Parts: sequence; structure tokens; C-alpha cells
Amino acid sequence: MLSERMKHLKPYTPGEQPRDRAYIKLNTNENPYPPSPRIRNFLQNFDPETLRLYPDPESLRLRETVAREAGLTPDQVLAGNGSDEILSFAFYAFFDASRGPLRFPLYSYTFYPVYCDFYGIPFERVPMKSDYSVDLDGFLKSPLCGAVLPNPNAPTGMAHTLTALDGFIRRFPADRVILIDEAYVSFGAESVAPLINRYPNLLVVRTLSKDLSLAGIRLGYALGQKSLIDAVAAVKNSFNSYPVDTLASNIAILALEDREYYAELSRKIRTSRDRFVQALDIKGWETLPSRANFVFTRKAGLAGQEIYRKLRDRGFLVRYFNLPGIENFVRITIGTDEQMISLEQAMGDLE
Ligand code: PMP
Repeated sequence: MLSERMKHLKPYTPGEQPRDRAYIKLNTNENPYPPSPRIRNFLQNFDPETLRLYPDPESLRLRETVAREAGLTPDQVLAGNGSDEILSFAFYAFFDASRGPLRFPLYSYTFYPVYCDFYGIPFERVPMKSDYSVDLDGFLKSPLCGAVLPNPNAPTGMAHTLTALDGFIRRFPADRVILIDEAYVSFGAESVAPLINRYPNLLVVRTLSKDLSLAGIRLGYALGQKSLIDAVAAVKNSFNSYPVDTLASNIAILALEDREYYAELSRKIRTSRDRFVQALDIKGWETLPSRANFVFTRKAGLAGQEIYRKLRDRGFLVRYFNLPGIENFVRITIGTDEQMISLEQAMGDLE
């Protein structure tokens, strides 16, 4: 019954969404705070009659809003059903076997190799530096068909500065796309979006799932020069004309415009993160310097899986990656201060 290609399919496994009991859920980098209060008002007054019609296939109002916020033009923006979808379109549009492997960091978002297998894109994982930061020079070896680089990186949380990335993109082959995944950029890193008009090969991908606390509406977008955006749009239009539904689009616009509310959420999360890291330091944990809404941490003598299991028994869900080199780490999403304080106590007792 199955196609040949289906027999080899290796799907991505997202962090678990538990149904068995109430956990303090710190495993998928969701935001612990509610989205903009403007959204509640909107939903209370929403007329379902509008759902009779298909949404705007171009998501123009949404793209105009994103463009305004990013200092770009609407034709430099494409919206999709979560940044995962945008990533998959971009992989299809720009990377293939004919020009060499795609490069991404050895420890990075585990969806990248899944898309590569799905589209038959060969890839090479670039080893990290000894401090677990991304080795930018490692991306410059040829041949390559392009590069994908999350900034901050996941699951480490470590980020490069805008200056470092500018220098890197300048040296990157101009006829290959460099995709910077900025899923976590608003928690203390610098966006490369201001470089878009200088580099025709730079594509930036963002999500509303994390900083705007909207993982449930599935909205992501790409920023880049028009020729790149047109290519990603052509892929989108070969899969689905309407990936962004009417409700999602309206909600996203309200959120993107409520800058003050979200600046405050980001500030709260960064403060909780820094406080949590300090508390872990005192308890003997080693935590990588994070600019994201999660931290990557380990403690001598404990394996990641063991930490995960023991914390699960105590009612906390965190994420561990069974990969050689990072198997002793766990990735912990930053929740509210209250959640982090009770987790800190549980982690202090782990042996
Ligand atoms: N990029 C990175 C680095 C991520 O961690 C995630 C979240 N799992 C995504 C992209 C996808 O986010 P979404 O599909 O919710 O927009």
C-alpha cells in the first residue's frame, strides 16, 4: 500500500503535550503568559459570519503589519502556518543535492534533518566550538547548497551578535541562501532583519509561537528580498493557497501591534531566566549562556534522561535529547517565577 518514499519517512517528534496529569510544562518553549488582552476583546466580538469565506490567500494585511514592524515592504514578507511550514517551503525552494550539502549546526533544531530527508537534501552538521557556540567559520567550506542557522540556537540558547553575523553573511557565498531562524530572537538576541536590504541571499524566519505567546494559532513568517520571498511563495502556492486562516491572521495582527505588552513579557521572562540560572549555579548546575526563553543545563553525575525522568515524577516536564555530546543536558523552558522557584527546589534535590 505504501509508496517507496513513505517506507523511509522519518517524521519529527515534537515535545510531548501530556494528557495524563497536570504538569508544569517546560518542554516546548511555550510562553507562560497569556497573549495580548486585545485578542480576548476581539474574540468576544468576532462575527463567525466572516468564516463563511476563504481567507485572503496573500495575507496582505498581516504582511503589511509585519513589514511595518520590521522596517521592510510587504513584498519582503511571507506568512505561513507556523514557522515549521515556512522552513519546509524554504528548504524546498533553495536547497538541493545538485550543489552540495546543506550545513546546519551539529546541535540544532531537530526538524532540519527531517526536512532534508523529506526533500532528499544532503546535509552536513557543523561541529560546535568547545563552549557549544555555533562555529560560523565551519559553514564556509565548500561545496554547499546553503546554510541554516538558528540565532539564538536551539537547544543551547546561545546567540551571535549582529556584527558577527553581518561579517559572516558577507563572507558567505552570494549565490547560496543563508537562512537565519529567529524563533527566539526577542528574548535578548539581535535580529539580522536590518541586513535584508543589503544581502539578496539572506532569509529570516520567525514565529509568533514564542515571544507573542501564540503557539496555538500556528503562525510564522519569512523576511527577505522580494526574489527570495517570491520563490517561497511559489512553493506555498503549490501546497496550500490558504495556510493562514482568518482567525489566525486577525489575532496575529493584534499581537504584532501590541508592542508594549510583549516587551514587558519578554522583560519578565529574561529576568526569570537570569534569576533561575543564578539559583542553578549555586546548586552546582552548569548552564550555557542563554539569550532565549529556555536554558540548557547539566549537573555532573546525572544523565539527561535521568534528570528528565526524575523531574517528570515530581510534576515538571522538561526536554532532553538523546544525542552523543549533549546527552547529559536538559532543555528547560522559562516559565513564571513561581514555576521556576518550585523547579529550582526540585532540581536542588536531584542526585
Ligand atoms: N525554529 C525553531 C528553532 C524552533 O525551536 C521552533 C519551535 N519548535 C520552530 C522553528 C517552529 O515554531 P513554529 O512552527 O511554532 O512557528
